[in-house]
Amino acid sequence: KLGNETVKAELGRATWKYFHTVMARFPETPTDDQKEALRSYIYLFARLYPCGECAEHFQQHLKKYPPQVSSRNAASGWACFIHNEVNAMLDKPEFDCANLGDFYDCGCKEDEGGKGE
Ligand code: FAD
Repeated sequence: KLGNETVKAELGRATWKYFHTVMARFPETPTDDQKEALRSYIYLFARLYPCGECAEHFQQHLKKYPPQVSSRNAASGWACFIHNEVNAMLDKPEFDCANLGDFYDCGCKEDEGGKGE
């Protein structure tokens, strides 16, 4: 049981890192197509997340707080907020979203165009 919890936590950490990095690289002024791509991605991500109970919870959170995809700032702020909802559910400390800044760096600064271009 402890083993399972450790594996679930590792998957969670890796996934959050990836999830927030996707948001940090989303275009600052996305096209309608890019907004739709992010919205679909988030709903599919929630459906397909490998931990079934987590996927279930996360889909409930999405119903309450639908994805914000109008800009990079909106998307990263929303992702930080919803991660904090999961933190609260698990009795973890709240992360200060004002500290997001360059916290999620993809190591790809040279291609400044951003994702989806
Ligand atoms: P994590 O929550 O994994 O966070 C990793 C790091 O991200 C933190 O150390 C911090 O530096 C940073 N961070 C923390 N909060 C934020 C934030 N709000 N915004 C940006 N960065 C932040 N586990 C369960 O037991 N039950 C569940 O139902 C469940 N649902 C999950 C749903 C999803 C979609 C995901 C991705 C994970 C879920 N998990 C669930 C796993 C859980 O959220 C944690 O990943 C896991 O418990 C490890 O926690 P951690 O304390 O290492 O930090």
